[in-house]
Amino acid sequence: MDIQNFDIHIIGGGVIGLTTAVTLQARGVKVVLLEADEICKGTSSGNAGHLATEQIFPVADASMLRHVPAMLLNPTGPLRLDWRYLPRLMPWAFQLLLNMRAEPFDRIHKSILNLNSSSLDAWQNFATQFDLKQWVHTSGSLLTIEQPTKLSILTDYGKRLNDVGVINHPLTKDEIGEYEPALKNDNLDALYFSKTGHFTNLQAIYNSLATTFHQLGGHVIEHCHVLEAIPNEDSILLKTNQGDMVANKVVLSAGAYSKALAKQLTGVKVPLDTERGYHLMIPNESKRLNMSVSSLDRHFIMTPMEKGLRLAGTVEYAGLDAPPNMQRAHKLLQHAQPMFKEPLNTDDSVPWMGFRPTTVDSLPVIDKIGRVFLNFGHHHLGLTQSVVSARMIAEYYFDEPHTIDPSAYKVSRFKKTR
Ligand SMILES: Cc1cc2nc3c(=O)[nH]c(=O)nc-3n(C[C@H](O)[C@H](O)[C@H](O)COP(=O)(O)OP(=O)(O)OC[C@H]3O[C@@H](n4cnc5c(N)ncnc54)[C@H](O)[C@@H]3O)c2cc1C
Repeated sequence: MDIQNFDIHIIGGGVIGLTTAVTLQARGVKVVLLEADEICKGTSSGNAGHLATEQIFPVADASMLRHVPAMLLNPTGPLRLDWRYLPRLMPWAFQLLLNMRAEPFDRIHKSILNLNSSSLDAWQNFATQFDLKQWVHTSGSLLTIEQPTKLSILTDYGKRLNDVGVINHPLTKDEIGEYEPALKNDNLDALYFSKTGHFTNLQAIYNSLATTFHQLGGHVIEHCHVLEAIPNEDSILLKTNQGDMVANKVVLSAGAYSKALAKQLTGVKVPLDTERGYHLMIPNESKRLNMSVSSLDRHFIMTPMEKGLRLAGTVEYAGLDAPPNMQRAHKLLQHAQPMFKEPLNTDDSVPWMGFRPTTVDSLPVIDKIGRVFLNFGHHHLGLTQSVVSARMIAEYYFDEPHTIDPSAYKVSRFKKTR
């Protein structure tokens, strides 16, 4: 195989790189996918598996600022800052704070909405096209609250979402019991979001997509770490641990690791950091729930999967290098257990940590600059937005009209440094 015969090199084989690779290859583009580790073994493997089209507000929200000090004092709470990382985080955190002001917040929220409102249809079509339907369930999800004093927060939130077209309705306690008989429904209130879903086996989806990609003629090189990317006039030189490669075009989709390569490829220093998140997989509880259930007051989510019940959530600022604190994953159990009528069987539970790629404005970078395509920074929503994002890259590639206005996701919203 001559690597130089490919039309495009994709850097990073997480869900963003893989869906982009399959989308382009299926349209006749000759793609090679370079992955530093193995395909979809990182953050994309361990997310909560929620097709979270209802999450249309940036996670960084001014209304939560007053709770931050208390959250930070609790080492296993929903938000944690590793103080040793603070000096490196400061410039990023400052910009994040600025984006909580009313005007940027509203603009950002609309741009998330634009991606999310196409995501369900896009995933359904993609699942049909590539034979993934058995693992993509689109029967909705619940958002719950336990403290009666907070019921108005849930109701107001539901109304705010309905006002912008994110369909939801409150459930009675009996209805909650019908949707999810295992939940303790006597002290629970919930909204039902019909246009959402969940993925029951992420690994099966990724394996199947990798096989399809291969059958379509695509090529994967695993354990291939792109160390440096040097744009030239008529090509891009990729220096990798497996030797130099000359690429005609490049897609950068290296998730939270995209910053240095983005700078080399475009000259733009993208304010990208990571919000680390955790999950606990409970293998004996695959049938306990029917759909993703999020808790507004406990700040976590539970998703039923073929291989168990996945409890996921929390945000931790500690960068890419600090070791995980798996206590944070185990702590999720203390939130889940009280929500069920019967105790969970937690034998053989497995904790996990991953790196959400997070820009200061909570929006991904989806763009084309000459030979370089950018597709990274999907923060809490990479799985949800992956197919739409891949489609936008294909529209750029073929110079087609955009189905979603791409201006909000351009890299030029950040400063150029050369
Ligand atoms: C706890 C948690 C729960 C989440 N829940 C959800 C959810 O329910 N729904 C949702 O939509 N999203 C969710 N997310 C977010 C989602 O998982 C991410 O947005 C998404 O996985 C990002 O995908 P990615 O492909 O950009 O990054 P990654 O999955 O990190 O993939 C990037 C790949 O690039 C490779 N790479 C990096 N550098 C190089 C290099 N130099 N050369 C070659 N390869 C390289 C890496 O090895 C990696 O495989 C969650 C995240 C977490 C942590």
